Amino acid sequence: MIYLDYNATTPIIPAAQKAMFEAFACLGNPSSVHHHGRETRKLLESAREKVATYFGLPARNVTFTSGATEANNLILKGFKGIVLNSAVEHDSVLNVRSDAITVPVNEDGIINLEALEKLLKANDESLVCVLAVNNETGVVQPIAEILQICQKYNSHLHVDAAQAVGKITLNWQDLPSFTISAHKFGGPQGIGAIIINKPLTLSSLIKGGGQERGLRAGTENIIGAVGMGAAFGFDFSTLKPLQEKLENGILNSCPQAIIFGKSSERVTNTTNVFMPNVSSEVQLMHFDLNKISISSGAACSSGKVKTSHVLRAMGIPEETAKCAVRISTGWNTTESDVNQCIAVWTDLFNSQHFKKGIF
Ligand code: PMP
Repeated sequence: MIYLDYNATTPIIPAAQKAMFEAFACLGNPSSVHHHGRETRKLLESAREKVATYFGLPARNVTFTSGATEANNLILKGFKGIVLNSAVEHDSVLNVRSDAITVPVNEDGIINLEALEKLLKANDESLVCVLAVNNETGVVQPIAEILQICQKYNSHLHVDAAQAVGKITLNWQDLPSFTISAHKFGGPQGIGAIIINKPLTLSSLIKGGGQERGLRAGTENIIGAVGMGAAFGFDFSTLKPLQEKLENGILNSCPQAIIFGKSSERVTNTTNVFMPNVSSEVQLMHFDLNKISISSGAACSSGKVKTSHVLRAMGIPEETAKCAVRISTGWNTTESDVNQCIAVWTDLFNSQHFKKGIF
């Protein structure tokens, strides 16, 4: 089996597996004051330190959560003022505040900066939520420029950096706040963090004890935090030659194929590609039968395939968006995986078009 769905989740890198396995020997609640509690607390705080060090930030800025969904919910629900978000956010942003104002993107998937400025002019002191890297297309947003605009209108920029870690470099210290998710960069599922550099008044989402400085009640996920702390390090830019090979391979066999976001800055592990006249479902099934796991642009949690709101927001017609799939690579992807992927894609394209007499 070949796994090419790293944007959905990454396999856990060996260093993180090892650290987690060792942490299983630890017993004790990190909030307990006795020896066992203190030992567990040390493990938790060392994981927090590792996360903070990766971003060049103090450990106190890091609040552990169950992942990026919770972290995004925490800030969006916890903030009582006006919220603006781009049209291409993840569902964990789009489905939280029904009163949020949507900022459009252009045909390349980049947030419309003029529209943002206009909206902020009318709604200063807002919370603006933008994802740094789009999970479906890999398109990178101009975060530094967005930040400048937000600052001009006294607004707090929150960056959903779930798909950014290891893929792009941001001035993390300059971001007022951002969210990360361990399972997108080689750590386990069920752990993430919200990192707050510029304090803002927030009410907590989960009430209970005083863990995580009162911002997130509940006994912390120690094993998860240890795994996340040990997961940093893979440099996705090493995947660039594989991405070029994959995209050239597909475009050479079918010049009508479209790589969405190709003219924008994109991360090196994501290719969202349109195959003329073949639906995402058919493509997914064909790949699965050929032992390759890929994704439609937006596989929602129910497992159903729906038309991508990201592609639609980029002005791509529904009929075209319905024929897109996402191929995403990571630390364990090989050249042979990519060759196999090109062969399976080409084979399907040729067979479908032959059957439909499209040649
Ligand atoms: N934001 C983005 C951009 C994502 O890609 C994802 C995961 N698909 C999330 C948020 C949610 O992350 P988690 O699975 O940690 O809740």
